[in-house]
Amino acid sequence: MNHLREQDPAVWDAIRSEARRQQEGLEMIASENYTSPAVMEAAGSVLTNKYAEGYPGRRYYGGCEYVDVVESLAIDRAKSLFGAEHANVQPHSGSQANMAVYLTALEPGDTVLGLDLAQGGHLTHGMKLNISGRLYNFISYGVDAEQHRLDFDQIASLAKEHKPKMIVAGASAYPREIPHDRFAQIARDCGALLMVDMAHYAGLVAAGIHNNPVPYADFVTTTTHKTLRGPRSGLILSQEKYAKGINRNVFPGIQGGPLMHVIAGKAVCFAEASAEAFKEYGRAVVENAQVLAEVLMANGLQLVSGGTDNHLMLVDVTTMGMGGKRAEATLDRCGITVNMNMIPFDTRKPMDPSGIRVGTPALTTRGMGTKEMQRVGQWMVAALQNPDDEQRLTAIRDEIREMCVSFPVPAADAAEYAA
Ligand code: PLP
Repeated sequence: MNHLREQDPAVWDAIRSEARRQQEGLEMIASENYTSPAVMEAAGSVLTNKYAEGYPGRRYYGGCEYVDVVESLAIDRAKSLFGAEHANVQPHSGSQANMAVYLTALEPGDTVLGLDLAQGGHLTHGMKLNISGRLYNFISYGVDAEQHRLDFDQIASLAKEHKPKMIVAGASAYPREIPHDRFAQIARDCGALLMVDMAHYAGLVAAGIHNNPVPYADFVTTTTHKTLRGPRSGLILSQEKYAKGINRNVFPGIQGGPLMHVIAGKAVCFAEASAEAFKEYGRAVVENAQVLAEVLMANGLQLVSGGTDNHLMLVDVTTMGMGGKRAEATLDRCGITVNMNMIPFDTRKPMDPSGIRVGTPALTTRGMGTKEMQRVGQWMVAALQNPDDEQRLTAIRDEIREMCVSFPVPAADAAEYAA
């Protein structure tokens, strides 16, 4: 990093500040994680210099013999990790992965069922301004009003009524396990294809904690940087019969040259996620989430669906006399990073909803366990109960900083930034 420091101190300084922020605070955004130094080395390697349009053995550029090795490793490891017949490791992001599947399976104007954004879905599941909502006729399903669980009666009846070409399962803010078999049954009954976007819980699937969608779905998409703990990117898994269509729709369909350095990072991530230690990690992520949920509920906060069985929880903060925007800002002042989030049937606006989304993947990567989650929960409650008490918030921030010293963020260049 000495080169960067000398050549471009402004950028170097911003990165250093971010490294400090990550080290000194509690990263609790459910979609974030700390990737390993090995993944970061691969993603920061000379592979960023290489153009490699095409696929291993069939490139439009010379000099691809080594990037072919890297991409083949990534493909084989992804297939073996999730038990899939085909893997495309080139999508630059989760959104790109979803778009490539839509282009493969749908024609503009086709009807698709997806989870409502306001009830936990993702932008790419049919939000009006997103290309998914602009090109296709997305119909939203949701959760039931009492238990806040996916409403399979509603999904089945919408499927019967609208006869969608495809059903999209998966979520960005749903604290419960997703029963892929039930989606598969409904898709079969109405003759629809099934796509599962497991972006949030792919790491839990890899760890064997969440049921695997691959046996049930025609297409499975994911990001690689959330619970899976890889570089910021995307992945598509499918049955072999869709391989050609998927490959053609990623390149040249929506992308040009693949990011070979990021694909190298994904190859490393898939190997890490197949190791025994990753199973333990997945188990700890869920255990930590459950302990944190208990502490929050014991102190008067309401959780959507009454708890969690994955890596995240949706906390209704209105019982603390505030909305999600203020809760996010208050926690931020203590060094706790979360994001405000709509809760199902929210009566408040998206820019100041009733809830916050809280996750444990990043803290668990740092080695924090249930003892630390008890403390974190108490700090969150104390901060939310005292949003105007500057002294109290500062004291919490100091305590958090002190605890964080014992749980270093895994980064090969941490020492350089700390200097
Ligand atoms: N799908 C789901 C369920 C997500 O939660 C996200 C990101 O938050 C994405 C897709 C999109 O991923 P990306 O931000 O890499 O485009």
